[in-house]
Amino acid sequence: MNVTQDAAKSYSKNQQAQVRKVFLSITINKLCVFGNPIAQSKSPTIHLLFAEQFNLPIEYEKRFAETDAFVASAEAFFADPTTVGANITMPFKHDALEWVDELSEQAQRAGAVNTIIRTNNGFVGDNTDGYGLVTDLLEHDVTLKHANILIIGAGGAAKGALPALVEAGINSVTIYNRSTGKAESLVAHTNSYKKRVARLYDIEENNFDVVINATSLSLSGDLPNITDKIFEGAPAVYDMVYLSEPTAFLKHAQTCGCKTTIDGLGMLINQAARSFYLWFGEEPNTQLVSDRLRG
Ligand code: NDP
Repeated sequence: MNVTQDAAKSYSKNQQAQVRKVFLSITINKLCVFGNPIAQSKSPTIHLLFAEQFNLPIEYEKRFAETDAFVASAEAFFADPTTVGANITMPFKHDALEWVDELSEQAQRAGAVNTIIRTNNGFVGDNTDGYGLVTDLLEHDVTLKHANILIIGAGGAAKGALPALVEAGINSVTIYNRSTGKAESLVAHTNSYKKRVARLYDIEENNFDVVINATSLSLSGDLPNITDKIFEGAPAVYDMVYLSEPTAFLKHAQTCGCKTTIDGLGMLINQAARSFYLWFGEEPNTQLVSDRLRG
């Protein structure tokens, strides 16, 4: 292709993007989050605050589905042509991966879909959880390049976050989980796309730059069964759970001397911001939304 054709193609792409933007700004764009349970989800609030920033008319609802009924629920929702996309939370991220027509590389690597985008050629599945985590860590000035990371937990959140952490240039990721089998398969899965970066936790090893709690333990105020030594000297400790006050995990890390402790609200807002960008091509101001939610 010569330069003139390239320019024409890019001009036509820009035109299409502009037409799409105008269209999105004059119709009501329907979105939802599928989950079970779903009542606790903050996604509608976050996306309505994003949409306000661009005067975009959106409707964003919480959709409860029975655990075996994701496909029926998704097909019923997307039968309405004014639906532009959806977020997916527990326990449907894998069902969504199987349902969409096309997958992004992030979703493929994460083995899970948390964002569905309606396109002219069908439904695309993406995963923005890792982007949300990495963006939040970087916004807190946590260095990821060459860092040695410990992830506690080997569920969907850990798996979703790993590809973006690896892409951020970490040196190693060590995985500790109550069920060792799940940790082993996450190590193998990660090493299948980035050789030798992941390994299983060894009790002798306590020298990490960043410690990330990717379990749901903080929801019940419990701590993982792992030595306090991991906090000593760890420059940053992160808990994916967000509560109205610091989680038990973060409080414990502070007691052990850790100075930088971060909860999961920033991850939540940044993964939502990425989904919003995938639907509307707009990058919302996440700080404004964070201030509103913390306020
Ligand atoms: P999963 O159910 O897939 O995994 C749960 C993880 O927690 C597993 O590693 C599990 O270990 C561990 N766990 C649960 N109970 C215990 C226990 N009693 N003792 C030890 N380990 C336990 O959930 P997700 O991975 O999807 O989510 C984990 C957390 O991350 C959730 O609380 C969720 O709210 C949060 N999250 C936050 C996000 C954000 O944007 N801030 C995004 C996604 C998730 P085992 O394998 O042994 O069962």
